[in-house]
Amino acid sequence: MNPTQTSATDPQGSLAARTVALLGRVPDGLLIDGVWRPAEGDRTFTVSDPATGLPLVRIADASPRDALDALASADRAFPAWARVAPRERAELLRAAFEELQRRRDEFALLMTLEMGKPLQESFGEVAYGGEFLRWFSEEAVRIQGRYGITPEGTGRVVVSQHPVGPCYLITPWNFPLAMATRKIAPALAAGCTVVVKPASLTPLTTSLFAQVLLDVGVPAGVVNVVPSTKSGPVSAAILDDPRVRKLSFTGSTPVGRDLLARAAPGVLRTSMELGGNAPFLVFADADLDAAVAGALTAKFRNIGQACTAANRFFVHASLVEEFTARVTEAVAAFETGAGTQPGVTIGPLIDSRAVAKSEELVADAVARGATVRTGGHAVEGPGSFFEATVLADVPADAALMREEIFGPVLAITTFESEDEAVRLANDTEYGLVSYVYTRDLARAQRMIERLATGMMGLNVGVVSNAAAPFGGWKESGLGREGGPEGIREYLQTKYTLTPDP
Ligand code: NAD
Repeated sequence: MNPTQTSATDPQGSLAARTVALLGRVPDGLLIDGVWRPAEGDRTFTVSDPATGLPLVRIADASPRDALDALASADRAFPAWARVAPRERAELLRAAFEELQRRRDEFALLMTLEMGKPLQESFGEVAYGGEFLRWFSEEAVRIQGRYGITPEGTGRVVVSQHPVGPCYLITPWNFPLAMATRKIAPALAAGCTVVVKPASLTPLTTSLFAQVLLDVGVPAGVVNVVPSTKSGPVSAAILDDPRVRKLSFTGSTPVGRDLLARAAPGVLRTSMELGGNAPFLVFADADLDAAVAGALTAKFRNIGQACTAANRFFVHASLVEEFTARVTEAVAAFETGAGTQPGVTIGPLIDSRAVAKSEELVADAVARGATVRTGGHAVEGPGSFFEATVLADVPADAALMREEIFGPVLAITTFESEDEAVRLANDTEYGLVSYVYTRDLARAQRMIERLATGMMGLNVGVVSNAAAPFGGWKESGLGREGGPEGIREYLQTKYTLTPDP
């Protein structure tokens, strides 16, 4: 383990040079009307590498007035884009998919630099994020309505679908590419124009991707990008303006709740992809090899910084010792370090606040009776690293059983009966995803019926797929991204009554 290793010590000696060249290609302005331009007052902010704490570049910092310029651009471009033939919209998205795959090395490296995840995972995100472009290119040509006779036979009902209008898309830092494509692709496929506000910690991937959209021929004004450190005022300016017709947000539940209130006066369409507190249930009849492998993926993917990260491990009492021993052995062998270094599983957390949060949650659990099987500490030195950690005997009143950990901490507790497992799993205000390991078909079916969750991994540790409706129940959100459901979020229905011909 050597988290102080940075790109500068790349054994091939090429990473530093590639990094400089790549950062030189990332647009550093705001994208408005198809042109990259400076922010009002030439204001900029720094984007840093969480593996070193060192600055990468400075980019334009949009003001509320800049944001309104971007909205005006999206509004002007909307009527023409909405009339572009679906096939043409589809082919532009498909071209963006191809271009993203062709440039996967650049996108993967850029994500690792600004967000920290191991390079291998960044390649996975390029593949996953790209699939939304391909999927929605295929959905753009399948927007359909219906025609029917009224029950009385006196009229005809025509139902048609129309793009909702200019959309405001806010993305989080943890999946800089996929959270952008998961919104931009269905919006464009539906005929909507967009203003995107990426997370200020990781704006670079979105800007490079927006340039790809321009390069493949997406018309000026269809996609506008406003990186900003003033999320609140920028969002308020846009949401208070009647030209915006839809808000799609991915981020934490508290911010989502505020934004819903902001969107209420304009009665905006909203999609909310919010926080999670995923249970991971291992029943006595589980395939233990599969459960251990699934647990490691469900917990440590993205260094634990995923809304879908398994947060609470409930393991049947008959298996808990063996399960704990096996995950502990695997986790103790994880290598921690800069995501650009080969062999690393645990990259840096996004910032020092995230490290402090993991530290506090572990300390709280230990104070209440949990035992540390491995890890448990922040790592000294530059960058924001926390050791991959396994906690056993975690009591129900530990804070990390209620809050998203958002760090590499695997917290294990036990249950005796199926009813108890269901009660524990559902005992949260969140309902994004649940993981279930069982070989009993009837039990699996009961879990589908009884778990209060928008998504379920049945004997698998990752559920995300562009063809499936991603989204949560309860305070985990509203709406769905991906699947045939994903494009409907950007369409509005019109019913026309015509007389009996
Ligand atoms: P966050 O809520 O702090 O920020 C998300 C985005 O909102 C960022 O672009 C941020 O700049 C912006 N923002 C922050 N405050 C704002 C405000 N007052 N007004 C308008 N915009 C504001 O979340 P985060 O820390 O970036 O991301 C982590 C959270 O996102 C976790 O809770 C995670 O579960 C959630 N998440 C959910 C999904 C999902 O699909 N359900 C996916 C990824 C992340």
